[in-house]
Amino acid sequence: MVSKNLPFTKEEILKIIEKYPTPFHIYDEKAIRENARKLKSAFKDIPGFKEFFAVKALPNPFILKILKEEGFGADCSSLPELILAEKAGMTGNDIMFSSNDTPAEEFIKAKELGGYINLDDISHIDYLERSAGLPDIICFRYNPGPLKEGNAIIGKPEEAKYGFTREQMFEGYRILRDRGVKRFGMHTMVASNELNPDYFVETARILFELIVEISKELNINFEFVNLGGGIGIPYRPEEEPVSYEAIAKGVKEAYEATITANGLHPLKVFMECGRVITGPYGYLISRVRHLKHTYKDYVGMDSCMANLMRPGMYGAYHHITVLGKENEPPVRKYDVTGSLCENNDKFAIDRPLPEIEIGDILVIHDTGAHGHAMGFNYNGKLRSAELLLREDGSVVQIRRAETIEDYFATLDFEALKDFK
Ligand SMILES: *Cc1c(COP(=O)(O)O)cnc(C)c1O
Repeated sequence: MVSKNLPFTKEEILKIIEKYPTPFHIYDEKAIRENARKLKSAFKDIPGFKEFFAVKALPNPFILKILKEEGFGADCSSLPELILAEKAGMTGNDIMFSSNDTPAEEFIKAKELGGYINLDDISHIDYLERSAGLPDIICFRYNPGPLKEGNAIIGKPEEAKYGFTREQMFEGYRILRDRGVKRFGMHTMVASNELNPDYFVETARILFELIVEISKELNINFEFVNLGGGIGIPYRPEEEPVSYEAIAKGVKEAYEATITANGLHPLKVFMECGRVITGPYGYLISRVRHLKHTYKDYVGMDSCMANLMRPGMYGAYHHITVLGKENEPPVRKYDVTGSLCENNDKFAIDRPLPEIEIGDILVIHDTGAHGHAMGFNYNGKLRSAELLLREDGSVVQIRRAETIEDYFATLDFEALKDFK
């Protein structure tokens, strides 16, 4: 049977559950740190390489603090994300602000923190100048349109709402140059959960070539390029992780053939991945509450789509291990469901699993990115706690579970009494 490894045993999880009831997400600090070091080491020969962790993937300041220690910055796209990064000790060049449809107060905060501001549209030049003033260094998000094939989650670039067209890139940098800005960056983000390393190399080449063209035509100097995020992870046990070395090698070759060959070295190379940094190192731990046999066999969990939305939203595969039954054969196909009044509230459909009993603990894999983060309160469901498995085997709670009081916090029941 195909399987995926776990950083804990059933006995260890049972002990954790005594203190922190299910459901919860638990993150593996050791694996997160090792992975961060692997990424840095693969890119060590790329000039000024830096990864800005996409905060939206796992917006927890404890995780951000760990990643800051590993030398990463933060890629933010909202005011709360900027504040989270700041709380974790990230300011100045540790911040990349890649937002879209951006409100003025977010530009103001990003500028206050001294972060790199990445504009999503040419009209935002004037908007930024009016709201926060132009910063010293400024970056544009490029949408290569039909130049680049899309992928399933992010769609075709020409149909994506993000970024400048090619013509707007030339025009935008010209406007900024004429207004006295001297330092520039260029960004794109055209992939999501992409497992082919060549995709990122091709993206880098497209950006490098555009930088060569624009530098020459406008006589301006680029300080960095940001290749975006989107490196995929092997959600399915038969898939392989993306080789960081393969991406780094291809990017370096493209860099030399374009940037170095045109005398534009050094240009710093940035990335802003989320999923690949923490995704594989998080687990949703949940107990079987009910079993139901009708036209199909259903497992009813004590968690639901509010704790992990990807399967319901994208039909995404998340591997499931039944703790203590790792070596038992899959004898039955189950739909593993939550308690939402929504028929797409399923963690898995027709999944072959060992015989399941009420009280079994299921581990849903790869919930370390876009997992808890996408949680919501529909149907009065509460978001779970987040725990951190430390390198010494101890466990700390890095976010408590929501309570009913949290859920009602925005309602005024006193005002309701007088309301007729
Ligand atoms: C979501 C997002 C990322 C991170 O994407 P991953 O697939 O988690 O790597 C990076 N940059 C931007 C602008 C994003 O919207």
